[in-house]
Amino acid sequence: TQPKLPQPAEPVEIHQLAEDFNQLLAAQNNRLQRERQFISDASHELRTPIATIRGNLKLIERRGDQHPEVIPESLGFIDQESLRMQHLIENLLHLSRADRADVDLQPLDVAKLARGVVAHYQPLVSQPLSLEAPETPVMALGDSDMLHQILTALLDNAHKYSPADQPIVVRLITTAQTVTLQVADQGAGIPAEDRTYIFERFYRVDASRSNQIEGSGLGLAIVSQLVKLNHGQIAVTENQPRGSVFAVTLQAPPKS
Ligand code: ADP
Repeated sequence: TQPKLPQPAEPVEIHQLAEDFNQLLAAQNNRLQRERQFISDASHELRTPIATIRGNLKLIERRGDQHPEVIPESLGFIDQESLRMQHLIENLLHLSRADRADVDLQPLDVAKLARGVVAHYQPLVSQPLSLEAPETPVMALGDSDMLHQILTALLDNAHKYSPADQPIVVRLITTAQTVTLQVADQGAGIPAEDRTYIFERFYRVDASRSNQIEGSGLGLAIVSQLVKLNHGQIAVTENQPRGSVFAVTLQAPPKS
């Protein structure tokens, strides 16, 4: 007997299959494109400090004997740029770890967590720092270490991007289903057109302004990934009369 030949599928199905396949291919290409861009951005960011370090080493090599006065300044640059590289690499590692992190969301008291972080952070910064949260527990689902990291990173930015005497407020706002953790500063603020991009890797608002301030543009990309792992959302709005408000919204634990 003749082997049974496979029956041709309905033309409609083939169309559908082709369309699905094209969509899959487009998504894959998109991901590859983003990865390529990421590697290229990361290499570029690392190349700049390496060039400065090598340039200063050469300077010391060529002129150090005859002009020893160039040495302290060059060593200063080398120190500063190697520190920048170290931070950058640490942040890249954070990013790649967050990509694969396993999270065990547990009900936890966010008010207590925020009190701890604020108490620890206040002595480290010049800005007056206050917490507006109930004394009673405010429960949300989250990973305690990650929430620490998120709040600290937002406080780091509030501190970095606002004048030394402008207050920073950490606030907790609850609804029946959510708990929102806000960090409000009275700094320069973020122009509306930049707000959607600041969570992207390496994005810094107005390079000339940000370049005066140490940073890699990775902090908020890490925060945003951590927030996602906690099944939360992050948003940034304008503060009144000036500055920014970063708001992380977490899920409240299910009522038992
Ligand atoms: P970094 O601070 O290392 O540059 P981030 O990813 O933490 O990177 O932030 C991205 C950019 O968003 C910063 O370069 C800065 O331009 C802007 N930004 C972040 N937080 C604030 C803030 N609180 N106030 C004003 N600008 C901010």
